[in-house]
Order: sequence, then structure tokens, then C-alpha cells
Amino acid sequence: MITSITISAPAKVNLTLDIKGKRPDGYHELETVMHQINLLDIITIEKQETGIEVVTSSELVIDDETNLAYRAAALILEKYNCQAGVKINIQKNIPVGAGLAGGSTDAAAVLKGIRQLFDLPVDDRTLHEIGLALGSDVPFCLQGGTALATGRGEILSMLPDSLVLTMVIVKPPYQVSTAEVYKAFRLEQVKRFPDTNAFIESWCNCDMIGMCDHMENVLESVTEEQYAEIKTIKNQLVQLGAIKSIMSGSGPSVLAIFDQLAPAARAFEIIKKTCQETYIVSSYLKEGVL
Ligand code: ATP
Repeated sequence: MITSITISAPAKVNLTLDIKGKRPDGYHELETVMHQINLLDIITIEKQETGIEVVTSSELVIDDETNLAYRAAALILEKYNCQAGVKINIQKNIPVGAGLAGGSTDAAAVLKGIRQLFDLPVDDRTLHEIGLALGSDVPFCLQGGTALATGRGEILSMLPDSLVLTMVIVKPPYQVSTAEVYKAFRLEQVKRFPDTNAFIESWCNCDMIGMCDHMENVLESVTEEQYAEIKTIKNQLVQLGAIKSIMSGSGPSVLAIFDQLAPAARAFEIIKKTCQETYIVSSYLKEGVL
């Protein structure tokens, strides 16, 4: 009988992000291509007799019952009437409040981990529903890879693993509240929209240049207005050789696509001197892919 399990929780970036309108339930209607990257939190879940305990390596993340990993454990253990408890250790490598789905991916990893640890009879569809109750990005984090997400972000169409991308991610030294960004969003203030269909066509044809041509994020119209530095970082990355640079999610993280490792490594070294939370990453490949 296994008593503990360790799993990786990959961050995501949005390669396109479009908003199609506001729904009667208050959520926005999204159309976004999400992509997992190999920037990973490491989650260890240990069985214990009772209760849920969370320990994280980051001072920025609260260890109490508001932690998404805690809430994920509570939901699934309660739903399946598990009397036992768990101790969850999160080695936090994904920057917090960054637009990289750090909390959502931890929650997804905990749901999968507890299913395995307690051998619970939960199918993927039910796990998806439990995940959605925790947050709109959790279903994608459960599924992984690359997907077109619509609805609140929970209607997922898997895309092939066509390209392995090399990226530099820069997280400016402040957090952004996703809810506040969506609240401030005004369609008439958007200057550039992604062409999602054209993006997907290029993606499926392994056409990196075509794909980059169609990458846009409409939420830049909110977060860039508030933090002009985001635009400066994007321009700097392009000057350093990136084919394209956009903000991820509600920001403030910026991602830049490079077609070769050398200029990406150079950009990483240069930007890291002024922005501590800079990362060089590639697409996250699930076991058995490629
Ligand atoms: P998204 O891209 O899904 O909108 P994000 O990357 O912008 O999310 P997170 O890093 O998930 O943002 O953090 C958002 C908030 O969630 C923070 O205020 C943080 O304290 C809280 N939070 C709760 N649990 C966690 C967790 N396990 N990891 C990170 N943040 C968490």
C-alpha cells in the first residue's frame, strides 16, 4: 500500500486569449489556447490519520484552508467519504499571481494525486467537474498539453503536440488579481485581437512563424495600461531576438517565443539581471509524448 506520492504541477501560458462577451452568470466567454510549460511546482501528498495540512516553500502563499491545494483535497476527500487525511507539501517554483495558473495546477495535481493515493473510483469527467468548482483553469491543468479552451475556460478541445517551444518568461515584481483584470476589461479598449482559427491552423501545420503572427492577448488592454513596464519587457524581448512576445493570462507575466536556444539563453541572462523572476522554459511534454 502506498502512503505518499510526488507529482509535478506544470504552469500554463496562454498563446492566444480572446474574450467573446460577458455571460449572464457574470463570467466572460473565453477563447484561448493554453499550453503547459516545464516550469513546475512539486507536490508531495502523504496519507495521515485525519485532517488536511498544507506546507509551502513560498512566503507568498498562505498555508491555510484557503489554499487551492487544501480546498482540492477537502473537496475530493469529502465527496468520496474518506476518513483519512493528507499532508500536502508544495515546493513552489511557479511565481504567484502571475497569470501562469500556479494555484490551479497545484489543485489539479492534488486531485489526481489523491485519486491515485486512495485508489478512488473517480473518472476523468468527475475529476473535471470537481476541478471546475475550484477554478476555471483547473480543468485544463488536469488535462494538460495544449488545448483550445472556450466557455469559462472549461470546454476543452485538445490540440496535437505539434511544436516544442522554447520560451523566456518574465514575471515583473508584482502580482495581479485575475478577478480585477476581468472586471476592468472593456471590449472597445482592445487594439489587437488574436485570429484563433488561423493560430490553430498554423499550430497544426507546425508553422511557428504563422503561429506567432496570430498570438495576441486582449487582456493586455487592461494590465498594460496599469503597468507600462509590461510593454517595455515585450519590446526588449523582441529586440533580443524573440519572434513574438505577449502577456500570459491576466498578467503580469510576459512570454516570448524563440526559434533557437542560443538567443533565448542570452535574453534570459540579460533580463535576469534586472528582473529576478525570469525563466527559460520549453513546452511540457507529458510522459510518452514525442
Ligand atoms: P491564473 O493564471 O489561474 O489566473 P495566477 O497564476 O494569476 O492564476 P495564482 O498564482 O494561482 O495566480 O495565485 C492567485 C491567488 O491564489 C494568490 O493570491 C494566491 O495567494 C492564491 N493561492 C491559493 N492557493 C495557491 C497555491 N497553491 N499556489 C499559488 N497561489 C495560491
